[in-house]
Amino acid sequence: MPNDITTDSPVLRVIPRDQHCISRKGISPNALRVLYRLRECGHDAYLVGGAVRDLLVGGNPKDFDLATSATPDEVRALFRNCRVIGRRFRLAHVVFGREIIEVATFRANVDDGSGDRQTHEGGRLLRDNVYGSVEDDAIRRDFTANALYYTIDDFSVRDYVGGFEDVQNRVLRLIGDPETRYREDPVRMLRAVRLAAKLGFRIDDATAAPLHALAPLLAEAAPARLFEECLKMFLSGHAVASFEGLERHGLLRALLPESAAALAANRSGALRRVLIEGLRGTDARVAADEPVSPSFLFALLLWPAYCRTLMSLQAQDVHAADAQRRAADRVTVHQLEAIALPRRFSVPMQEIWLMQSRFGQRQRKRVTRMIAHPRFRAAFDFLLARQAASDDHAEDIAFWREAQLDPDNAIAISSAFEADDEAAAPRRRRRRPRPAQAG
Ligand code: ATP
Ligand code: MG
Repeated sequence: MPNDITTDSPVLRVIPRDQHCISRKGISPNALRVLYRLRECGHDAYLVGGAVRDLLVGGNPKDFDLATSATPDEVRALFRNCRVIGRRFRLAHVVFGREIIEVATFRANVDDGSGDRQTHEGGRLLRDNVYGSVEDDAIRRDFTANALYYTIDDFSVRDYVGGFEDVQNRVLRLIGDPETRYREDPVRMLRAVRLAAKLGFRIDDATAAPLHALAPLLAEAAPARLFEECLKMFLSGHAVASFEGLERHGLLRALLPESAAALAANRSGALRRVLIEGLRGTDARVAADEPVSPSFLFALLLWPAYCRTLMSLQAQDVHAADAQRRAADRVTVHQLEAIALPRRFSVPMQEIWLMQSRFGQRQRKRVTRMIAHPRFRAAFDFLLARQAASDDHAEDIAFWREAQLDPDNAIAISSAFEADDEAAAPRRRRRRPRPAQAG
């Protein structure tokens, strides 16, 4: 369907209950409660966005957002457990214990001159509080799949932008002119890649076409939003697909410039293999409901940048330990400017890197200190990702596996091996802590 038709004159298509698979059983009872209350009080109200999309593809939505004709203050008046949040985008949150139902008032994507909607000269949205009709609300959303409205009046799905057909064809398509929509909010470029990865959708050609050229706009996005988007992209079980999407559409060099440059310069592909292996492990952990940490994630994502910086410092004859510390700091500072990686994550991230060079240690005192380190587990998992990619670390892995169970035995086995080695090759240099190498 040509895109301009969808936005210039949205035409409503109603998909009746017997032609879609959304049942009230799949919807959070609290979201239904809020919907019924809003309707009883005479307001228009729908389930909208990611929840409708995910239910249509048979997924389990993680949150249930509502759209309504009621203003945030009207919503607050109806629910005791409600607070109004946000400045750029005022929203009502109805709170049920740990579940929050987000209720947004229908918004328009037009400038009515009131100052409630402000754009920056590049077309970026700064404030977005002009209320509108449900049609207005549909076309200001990002993708057609995200602009479907489910109503409890007759349990139909209401579609103003061709989203139902796109979901059925598994296509992710921006509403309106793609370039304009990316300029309004460059984070939509990352959302395109993330949602395509998560849903297994194809990005429509016109939606994908501007990505390469507009990638540099990401530098203007708020660092805190980029950080949040990174967590969603890489810690929701679709990290490998998201990473490949970023590469394919030229977004990686805008989001993680130093890592992208290091990957491009690494001809053997070893750095990329570590990263992909690590992300694969992260996806497996999410699938198994095991915890995943932003520190480990960023240690992976910035590992290429760290290795490359480290190698250039070592080439300048900076002493190994000093070079490691300086490389870690340099990469962190550069990346902090672009993505506001909080200190509570960047400090452990650096520890994971710095510990990589200590897996060659075999002295009793150092071994016990290493195992007692709060970051040992993460650093060891990181070594496993490096091993899966290059097979260079088998001896260290065997040693530290044993050392966690019985350090003395691990040391005894290791020195027996060393003695054998030395008997066979007497001039072999003794083991020393090694600098981290690529891979
Ligand atoms: P997720 O599965 O990550 O929750 P989602 O689509 O629900 O995906 P949210 O960030 O929860 O993403 O946003 C809810 C809805 O708000 C979206 O489905 C979309 O309709 C709208 N939306 C979110 N971000 C934007 C944006 N940057 N521009 C336009 N509309 C947006
Ligand atoms: Mg959502």
